[in-house]
Amino acid sequence: MNMRFDLRQLGRQKGGSLRDEHVDRTFQPSEFEASVGQDEEYKVAAPVHLEMNVHKDGEAYRVVGRVTTRLQLECGRCLEPFEIPVDSPFELRYVPHVEPAPEGQAGKAGKAGAEREVAEDDLTTAFYKEDSIDLGDLMHEQFVLALPMKPLCKVLCKGLCVHCGTDLNKGTCACAPEWTDPRLAVLKGLMKE
Ligand SMILES: [Zn+2]
Ligand SMILES: [Zn+2]
Repeated sequence: MNMRFDLRQLGRQKGGSLRDEHVDRTFQPSEFEASVGQDEEYKVAAPVHLEMNVHKDGEAYRVVGRVTTRLQLECGRCLEPFEIPVDSPFELRYVPHVEPAPEGQAGKAGKAGAEREVAEDDLTTAFYKEDSIDLGDLMHEQFVLALPMKPLCKVLCKGLCVHCGTDLNKGTCACAPEWTDPRLAVLKGLMKE
């Protein structure tokens, strides 16, 4: 599995000025199994299409593109899996990764300087190492940005009974009568939060 994009291949085909590189790749969900941790909030549920242009700008690279796929999430209320579509345009600026100094202020000052410089031109910054961009990291970042604050299988998901764990979207349970007083239910809901 190769999820790295080699920056040294840019401009190889022309002797003079560097040309932009167009990247168009599709990754299968299985390719993400190794990189997406067990405790990650999502699973890749469909082939991932990554399309982007890479433009060299001095030491930095400007990367503009789009990633599309479907992700599987777990509902925060009923714990059932559900899918969301992802269609995320992105614009990133890759700057060389500088190893932080082992101790002292030099490393910190350098990092702060780079961050300030980056903040000025309003682009999200990422770092490249060993003349290559980690596309796995790039896509992971876009997936995380696409995740809802509170994943719900549907807006009105009823969730699980707090007492017996019954999925209340699918049925009722014996604990239900306790919730007949709506004021009490509201209060209990608040206390649960
Ligand atoms: Zn749900
Ligand atoms: Zn119950």
